[in-house]
Amino acid sequence: MEFKLDVHSHTIASGHAFGTVSEMAAAAAESGFELFGITEHAKGIPGTCTDIYFKNLRVLPRQLYGIEMMFGSEINIIDYNGRLSLDNELMKEFLDIRIAGIHELCYKIGDEEQNTAAYLGAMKHPLVDIISHPDDGRIPINYEALVLGAKETKTLLEVNNSSLCPESFRVNARENYFVMLDLCRKHNVPVIVNSDAHTPYAVGDLNEAKALLSEVDFPEELVVNRSVKAFKEALSNKRN
Ligand SMILES: [Zn+2]
Ligand SMILES: [Zn+2]
Repeated sequence: MEFKLDVHSHTIASGHAFGTVSEMAAAAAESGFELFGITEHAKGIPGTCTDIYFKNLRVLPRQLYGIEMMFGSEINIIDYNGRLSLDNELMKEFLDIRIAGIHELCYKIGDEEQNTAAYLGAMKHPLVDIISHPDDGRIPINYEALVLGAKETKTLLEVNNSSLCPESFRVNARENYFVMLDLCRKHNVPVIVNSDAHTPYAVGDLNEAKALLSEVDFPEELVVNRSVKAFKEALSNKRN
């Protein structure tokens, strides 16, 4: 399957990534994507953007190097209720795409029940489109509850390519994705593959995730990267 899009990446604005918007977009166009998303970390990650950065995303063109661009944020889930680190108004008015994820820099890792509740709470938020990297063995969760929550709230679950790379600091991502993907297949829940690229050189590399999906023979119709239309339909399912 050819992947047409990747909507999770970071630029220098996130404080620990290394490309500019132009460099990331050019690399995405060169990779053959039709749609690319840049999603800077929200408050809670040291050195990342303040609110005014997100409010000014409106000045950026939504077409660069011949491809469609989306600008948004990877917002932190900060407690066991799934509370988020950006205001609703800002999320609604200024972001094309909203990803929510747990980062241990601003989340106290709980037990399985608490971490699962955190994800379920975030997914219930009507503005959250995608849950990033629900794959880290250091943050135990109940995968069946996660997948059923995604189904009920129409939130996309991510298969994060970076988590599957050898240099990842996350633990047991591969094993956890086996469990998650099995449940997604069982309950007919779609996933999105994203690079989470922090450099222009990582843009376009979804190979680890692709290999994993083919290893488990995951159904193509449950991968929204197959077309921009499929991805946008998934977004509007949640948003409507
Ligand atoms: Zn993240
Ligand atoms: Zn990220």
